[in-house]
Amino acid sequence: MKKSYSYLIPALLVLGACASKKVTTTSTTSATNTASVVNGNSSITNDGKIWASLWQQRAAEYRALCFQAYNIAKQRVDEGVKKVSTKPLAIVTDIDETLLDNSPYDAAQGLKNQDYSDKTWKQWTDKAVADTVPGAPAFFKYAASKGITIYYITNRNENERGATLYNLQKYAMPNANDEHLFLKNGNSSKEERRQEVLKTHEILLLCGDNLPDFDMLYDNHPTEENRMAITQKLQKEFGSRYIVIPNPSYGDFEGALFQYNYKLNPAQKDSVIRAKVKADR
Ligand SMILES: [Mg+2]
Repeated sequence: MKKSYSYLIPALLVLGACASKKVTTTSTTSATNTASVVNGNSSITNDGKIWASLWQQRAAEYRALCFQAYNIAKQRVDEGVKKVSTKPLAIVTDIDETLLDNSPYDAAQGLKNQDYSDKTWKQWTDKAVADTVPGAPAFFKYAASKGITIYYITNRNENERGATLYNLQKYAMPNANDEHLFLKNGNSSKEERRQEVLKTHEILLLCGDNLPDFDMLYDNHPTEENRMAITQKLQKEFGSRYIVIPNPSYGDFEGALFQYNYKLNPAQKDSVIRAKVKADR
């Protein structure tokens, strides 16, 4: 599972009852717009996934940011291999939105006005068709060419192992095998798995899109204020040991925003967002 939460929206069934009327009044809408209307009232979060996915897929700025991150990572590799280390070097990387691009999944959910669910996510990962994040394959292959071992630490579930490896192997990702793939196995904190790598390797870099990918300080559901304070404290690590890839679509920022209450319905979430967003009112 890529996310540590699971939303259910039974209200969709009720909302669907309103759909036919809305569709008949929008006969000139595109298929995409119709899909959204069919599912009734949209929400800021679900519409937001569409916009975020579009940016991920179509903005050259997103591509540039990913290149920027992996260009810095490459510099760190070049510096790191020159230093003396007591253990062989490793890079620990997250998978989703760090290496694989799942924006088509988020976009599809948004267009259906549906939130993330474990079931639909699994249906997506089973296809093993995710594209790569710009710059990621070249970077990890470069690091491997310098003798660095890649470990994949992801919160995908054990039942996603086969498809995940298949998806990585499609792009000839280095060390894409059982030995180097650490899935969730019940504990969403990645610290234990990082410690496992540290038994045999020195971790030169960590790559991720969600801050718990880097440091255990972000574990255990810190508040938004605490996440900001921790980030301030770790400021020098970013671009140094921690390489962050932009993910505007989902992540712990979302959980923190809603105080990790995963039972909020879309209207309740919209209320939180409207209350919290800084706007010129
Ligand atoms: Mg991720």
